[in-house]
Amino acid sequence: MEETTVVIVGAGPSGLALGALLGRMNVKTIILEKDTEVCEDPRGIVVNGDAVRISYQIGIGEGLTKRIGKDISVLNFHRGNFRQSPFMTFDIRDGAKHLIRTSWLVGADGKRGVVRKKFLEPEGVRQVEGEWTYVGTWVAANLKITTPTPESHPEFPLWKLGYTPQQVHDTFWPTGFYFCNDDKRPQVSGRFGPAGSGFWRHEYSVEPEDNLDDVQGHLWKIFGSWMIIPGSKLSRTLAKTVVEFPRDCIDVIRCRPFTFTVKVVNKWFVRNTMLIGDAAHVFPPFGRQGIACRIRDAQSLAWRLAMMSTISVLTTTRERILEGWSQERRHAWKGAMNATRLNGSIVNMWSFFGGLLYRIVMRLVWQFPILARLRTHRAFRDKLAFTHKTCPDGFFLDGAGVGGRKVAQIRVRKQGQAPILSDSAFLRNLSHLSLLVFVRRDSPAVEHAQIAEILKVADLPRDMLTMEDVTLYFIDGSSSETSTARPEPGLEAYYPCTTEELAGEGITPIKGYHHTSVEDRYGSSAKFVLVRPDFIVHSVASSGEELLANLGKTGEYFR
Ligand SMILES: Cc1cc2nc3c(=O)[nH]c(=O)nc-3n(C[C@H](O)[C@H](O)[C@H](O)COP(=O)(O)OP(=O)(O)OC[C@H]3O[C@@H](n4cnc5c(N)ncnc54)[C@H](O)[C@@H]3O)c2cc1C
Repeated sequence: MEETTVVIVGAGPSGLALGALLGRMNVKTIILEKDTEVCEDPRGIVVNGDAVRISYQIGIGEGLTKRIGKDISVLNFHRGNFRQSPFMTFDIRDGAKHLIRTSWLVGADGKRGVVRKKFLEPEGVRQVEGEWTYVGTWVAANLKITTPTPESHPEFPLWKLGYTPQQVHDTFWPTGFYFCNDDKRPQVSGRFGPAGSGFWRHEYSVEPEDNLDDVQGHLWKIFGSWMIIPGSKLSRTLAKTVVEFPRDCIDVIRCRPFTFTVKVVNKWFVRNTMLIGDAAHVFPPFGRQGIACRIRDAQSLAWRLAMMSTISVLTTTRERILEGWSQERRHAWKGAMNATRLNGSIVNMWSFFGGLLYRIVMRLVWQFPILARLRTHRAFRDKLAFTHKTCPDGFFLDGAGVGGRKVAQIRVRKQGQAPILSDSAFLRNLSHLSLLVFVRRDSPAVEHAQIAEILKVADLPRDMLTMEDVTLYFIDGSSSETSTARPEPGLEAYYPCTTEELAGEGITPIKGYHHTSVEDRYGSSAKFVLVRPDFIVHSVASSGEELLANLGKTGEYFR
């Protein structure tokens, strides 16, 4: 019989993310997937928020925006329409039977998954309605667009206007993502996949009067007019004509209805069996939150499983750890669901006057760049924060402990080396906690021996935090030259990169980048920041004594 530490059922986004993370944490994992082919006709096409950040931790960060997809920098809401050797191996031998003994079983097998149904429902686990009730059917179509050329379509009118094939493509299939609404139905449309792949997604809500016997025919009825542009909009010479994108250049890869609901499990685990992803919760894709929320389920479970597998915990401790995990996940799910609900309320705006008023106000707001920037910042800022009020068993010290929020990610460098993402600098061992030590211009020297003594007294298991997990972080312009503190041998030392430094290296930081973002989240006395592998800060301390107290609470939590 084969032995493993974790069995994951389902190789969708949540199962694969968990498997990849556990692989990086050296936890033996087997993923069982019923499909034998990789699905190249996806349902989820947009990932957002820290799913992209987590993808770097998984090891596919660069590929995500170059080979799998591309950056979507613009989301548009419209009325009407728009204008690396393997660390994981899959064995898909057909018909072979295996017996596997495992310590942990994770159901990542989607909303109708067998793990919940077969193992957890008899124990009283159910997907129940969330705070928001929504049931709706949408048609989702994946299209593959071929670009016409003067050779393939000599009669196409735009060649005469000097259009190149690429310009024709961009005119009919513009970059960005479009949330559109008219009086009849909400629709969502936009490019997906790697740049230049020609993939396009169109989704629209199904209304009572719709007949879906011929779904593809229905798609053309709804979407056909989006492919026609009045000639007058393109050139005066084409006035009174219409220009239609050649239909034979549009291949419908998949077109079918999906029913969306809002549901979440009343319990996320029973003993050693857990649920993540759609197996645990579902909500509609209006907010494009689905995959991100599922990947976060996986990331926040992976390090807990890795720690519990190496430090051997009592049953009561296991229950507390998993209870804390599920409380945090439920809280995060609620946040993602609320974002979905907000987006949905815009896309599904049915009241004529309510919709009109909303659009007038938003058009007004967008006349003022400052207001537009403020609103964009509010809509896209990371609002996730855990407190013991919402997550009583969560692993963080909130309040004055200022834990429960993510550590910011910026670009950092070692003296004389190229900039790297701070997550890969600070969180070097993915199954351990990390200790960030802020070094300021006039702060006293930070000695290796002093930190080593604190860790020795705290007496945490070696698989949780060691001196190799400590990083000196030189802030407020301090460096080994300007600070009384020196990066000591055996201690990793990093400096934040300013926008100017990055520009000098040919790196364009993201909008809103600020090199002080990491320390800005804490008071000026903050010195020791204890960070979990999932970017969440456990606690912040101003002195060695406070750090020792925080480490003491860490030890108690896992005892
Ligand atoms: C039309 C549509 C559009 C969407 N658009 C977006 C979007 O743009 N952005 C976004 O973030 N989300 C979107 N979503 C939601 C997103 O697709 C899901 O939330 C996400 O796929 C869930 O991932 P998962 O890994 O939990 O489950 P799934 O993706 O459902 O994966 C489950 C896996 O388990 C396997 N499996 C099932 N049963 C078994 C079994 N018995 N044994 C072995 N394997 C099994 C399945 O074959 C599958 O591979 C969309 C959903 C739909 C329907």
